[in-house]
Amino acid sequence: MTRGRLVVGNWKMNPATIKDALALARTVGATPHAAVDIGVAPPAIALAAVTDALRSTDVAVFAQDVHWEASGAYTGQLSVSMLRGLAAGAIVGHSEVRRDQGDDDARIARKLARALGAGLQAILCVGETEAEFAQGRTASVLKMQIARDISEVSDLSPERFIVAYEPIWAIGTGRPASGAHASAAAQTIRAALDASGASADGIRVLYGGSVSAASVSEFAAADGIDGALVGGASLKADEFAAIIRAFAP
Ligand code: PEP
Repeated sequence: MTRGRLVVGNWKMNPATIKDALALARTVGATPHAAVDIGVAPPAIALAAVTDALRSTDVAVFAQDVHWEASGAYTGQLSVSMLRGLAAGAIVGHSEVRRDQGDDDARIARKLARALGAGLQAILCVGETEAEFAQGRTASVLKMQIARDISEVSDLSPERFIVAYEPIWAIGTGRPASGAHASAAAQTIRAALDASGASADGIRVLYGGSVSAASVSEFAAADGIDGALVGGASLKADEFAAIIRAFAP
């Protein structure tokens, strides 16, 4: 099965202003890229401006998170109906959101079901901590996360459901995993999806964690890895472009 390649920039709480976000979006939108799907995930406050700026391009815009309820008294949160027309989809279960918002797998499962149920794309992030990695527990952690996180979803369409393997110890540390470790993780993720009744063959698995222009070739060549979720390096348009190029077939 041929899976298209996808590179998504997660801008996190950057850049400093909406104006800066627009400038970055315009540069990404103007950069030619062959045969690689591209996405950016700006901060919520810049979603509308960035979506407008990229409307005539094929760069998809993602929210960095979405709430599990349809509406209600949830101060500071975004619902799927608010994202409709503004974003192609959302990142769900990023480790920084798990850490800062107290999201557990039960909550992630509800967010994922809400996003996919609304017709949005969802990039589900999973990955082990440094201690779990050191104890050789990566596979068991991933199996458990996948089983729990997809437990509320009945339709895992490969067009809309994407998994990002993001070892927590590699995020923002400048210490990416090896390509071999990422490949093994992708294999575990697909086996866990299959075991839960999903057809994993068509589902894209991205790697995320200190991907840079210098480290990307490792992941572009890694079996079972279909692209990258890029944090820090996605804020530099040239470096992001180099990462995208590395995934071009
Ligand atoms: C991320 O936060 O999704 C990420 C991969 O960050 P970085 O590339 O900065 O490690």
